[in-house]
Amino acid sequence: MGRQRRSRVHKAQRDVHRAARTRVRTRDLDLIQHNDLQPEERAKLENQPIDEEKPGLGQHYCVECAKYYETDIALKTHRKTKVHRRRLKDLRDPAYTIEESERAVGLGRDNGKDRINAEINAKVGDKAGEAVQDAKMADAA
Ligand SMILES: [Zn+2]
Repeated sequence: MGRQRRSRVHKAQRDVHRAARTRVRTRDLDLIQHNDLQPEERAKLENQPIDEEKPGLGQHYCVECAKYYETDIALKTHRKTKVHRRRLKDLRDPAYTIEESERAVGLGRDNGKDRINAEINAKVGDKAGEAVQDAKMADAA
């Protein structure tokens, strides 16, 4: 039988974790959602000035994925890929907020009390609104 194990050969010792930390890392989803996807910001990103430092001179940028492409064809094919579609789906969910993280550890205000108060207020508000309307109707008549 030949050797089956391939995991500890020298060429397998690429530092994939480092690559994932730095090179592959892109803009955070909440930043994209709150800034980049705004119409004027998006237009700015899609029509960037020529920049020799960026891939493809910074002319082919995918706003959702925060990535530069070398050519227009590369960008167009990218938009059809699974990676891009998955990104679109992720962006459709609301961004992670500080409030959400506080709620997760139980610091939030969502302990039921506020919600009940809001419901009571809404009901009272409705009643008051009706009363005002009735009064107006009476005045008109
Ligand atoms: Zn994309």
